[in-house]
Amino acid sequence: MNLETSLASTLEAMGTNLDQASPEQLFCALLRVTRDVELKQKPAQGDRKLYYFSAEFLIGRLLRANLQNLGLLDDAERILAEHGTSLAEVEDREPEPSLGNGGLGRLAACFLDSIASLGLPGDGVGLNYHFGLFRQDLSQGVQLEKPNPWIEPDSWLIETGSSFTVPFGSGDLSARMFDIQIPGYKNGVCNRLHLFDVIDPAPAPENGIAFDASDVAHQLTSFLYPDDSTEEGRLLRIYQQYFMVSAGAQLILSELAERGHQPSELDRYVAIHINDTHPSMVIPEMIRLLMEDGMPFDQAADVVERTCAYTNHTILAEALETWPMRFIEQVAPGIAPIIRKLDERARSRSNDERVAVIDSSDCVHMAHMDVHFCHAVNGVAALHTHILTSSEMRPFAELYPSKFSNKTNGITFRRWLLDANPALARCITERIGDGWVTDAQQLSDLLSVADADALTGELEAIKQHNKRALASWLQRTQGIKVDPESVFDIQIKRMHQYKRQQMNALYAIWKYLHIKRGNVPARPVTMIFAAKAAPAYELAKDTIALLLALSRLIEQDPAVSPWLRLVMVENYNVTAAEHLIPAADISEQISLASKEASGTSNMKFMANGAVTLGTLDGANVEIANLVGAENIYLFGRSSEEVIKLYETDGYHPWDLWQHDPEMAEAIDFIVSPELLACGNAAALARVYRDFVAKDYFMALLDARDYVATKERCLADYEDRAAWGRKMLMNIATSGFFSSDRTIREYNDEIWHLG
Ligand SMILES: *Cc1c(COP(=O)(O)O)cnc(C)c1O
Repeated sequence: MNLETSLASTLEAMGTNLDQASPEQLFCALLRVTRDVELKQKPAQGDRKLYYFSAEFLIGRLLRANLQNLGLLDDAERILAEHGTSLAEVEDREPEPSLGNGGLGRLAACFLDSIASLGLPGDGVGLNYHFGLFRQDLSQGVQLEKPNPWIEPDSWLIETGSSFTVPFGSGDLSARMFDIQIPGYKNGVCNRLHLFDVIDPAPAPENGIAFDASDVAHQLTSFLYPDDSTEEGRLLRIYQQYFMVSAGAQLILSELAERGHQPSELDRYVAIHINDTHPSMVIPEMIRLLMEDGMPFDQAADVVERTCAYTNHTILAEALETWPMRFIEQVAPGIAPIIRKLDERARSRSNDERVAVIDSSDCVHMAHMDVHFCHAVNGVAALHTHILTSSEMRPFAELYPSKFSNKTNGITFRRWLLDANPALARCITERIGDGWVTDAQQLSDLLSVADADALTGELEAIKQHNKRALASWLQRTQGIKVDPESVFDIQIKRMHQYKRQQMNALYAIWKYLHIKRGNVPARPVTMIFAAKAAPAYELAKDTIALLLALSRLIEQDPAVSPWLRLVMVENYNVTAAEHLIPAADISEQISLASKEASGTSNMKFMANGAVTLGTLDGANVEIANLVGAENIYLFGRSSEEVIKLYETDGYHPWDLWQHDPEMAEAIDFIVSPELLACGNAAALARVYRDFVAKDYFMALLDARDYVATKERCLADYEDRAAWGRKMLMNIATSGFFSSDRTIREYNDEIWHLG
């Protein structure tokens, strides 16, 4: 097909042309043309088809990624350049779909890209949230939440005309299905992401994100993760989950029948994947539907168990969902008796109360239901799976030793290197060809190129180019000024105590005081943060207020600001990550060991030539093994030590505070008059109190080692040749973390598609 001809005729129908169209019009026209090309491609075919259920798909902007996968990107760039504009300018008009919140949702998006690019038959199933999690506003020195609408008259959503009836206790609700096309990389395949929606969605709330959670028929798909501090909010989450899985299960059975198969053959022709516990009710719902079709309970439960697989994403107790049975009886009465029968079935396999589906307070443990009634369960990094099977889920691992396996997470190198860092992608392709795009392990060929010194020099120049590009993006979009000649030290991820942004803030204070005493660094340092905090998570929001206060204090201090800057990027999302990651020198991955299941930003940074400063947690362990000790900066207590401290109640931050005057000075500074003058006093006082009295995620325990290791890292940065070799080693060994590898493992060991 000829892109220029199609674009020209689409623009003509819109009453304009390539020379006169506004960037908005060019975006709409490109979107329509791209969507039409995708509609002509076929989903991957095969006997067995995967349905990947997830409450989140953090897919990011799609125009560039889709043009790339369709092989139309170069044409699009050329045509736009010939008419005086650029794809960068046009894609700035694309709103980012608000369909996810963090790593789990981004993983699901990378997986869809890999499934389609490997030519595997597999679709995503989720919900069409209209206003996302929220849009973050930092203009008042604290986080304010606003709706994040993204659906415009021209969007990637395609009306399928299909709908399914979901039987709630309060009455039936219709689930209308929209599709987003998922093109594979240059293979003619186009799979689908199915998003269910209510018929008559409510408009965005006027101020903030408060809305009437009891108005289920109109609000069910308004927001991702409605506030669960009220009973109505908790009920709405169950409404959402049941809506998604009931419509999804009905879709599966109707496609199975279309393909000419019997419900009893479900496990032979279908694989269902449950991404974290949010879609767990697909198990009882599918059993219910099979029983409605005349299958006895035992047979239905067996077929469903052979069909479903579950991924665990966290061992944080707060994130392991449990729902009172009375809520389920109210919202989804059709599956309540089935869950009770599943509980009996589980009890017939083990009388260990710790593995019960329904506990003594009549609450359902979703993860327990998943482990009993899925044929495969996996963790998302080697260390995480080890902790899962040896402690958190040990009784389950003993009961079902062959169900458990590890599938270390991955990222799609198409989006995170080829699209996000074109300069680096070009440099790599010039040296080793473009095979790495579909086989990322080939990046290791970079280690045997003839001109290694020239290559590391080029890597340095590309990083510098990307840092300038980030500086101008920050200036243009957020009015933030940064010095591209400084070291870019970046921590971007959800705001959570276990990820320990508060420890990084402590470093900023320590460094500020150090510089004030005359110890200026060899080169200025720019500390960059981006993070959303859950609206009801007070300490996380307080930590954002601390970072904003520090940012202001440092900026206003002429003795320090030439040497240190702290910037907080507003509204972290995929688009921001795509600008930030290619420009990073240092990748901050500093979670308390044992708490981060995997992490995936660590992988994105590595592939883009940033050097990791981190703990031996999640996939950092595997990164360290791949790059070798000279090419990563590790610090902090091990996961074994941390787990022991929790078991023995052996951690007391006030002891450390009393015995380490240097760290105590940094902590006390949080409530100093200077800092209080720059920020929200109540928030700063709460952060301070938590540090000395609780510090549940042990930031103070690792703080001293962290400061020392970061100083060593910054000193090493000055040996530019040595640093260039570290960058090269990180890029060249990152191929293991391709989501193509992860998906091949899921397929070979769990799904058996095709
Ligand atoms: C990759 C990614 C994440 C996950 O980051 P972690 O540091 O691994 O928690 C979260 N949000 C966005 C937008 C991402 O791209």
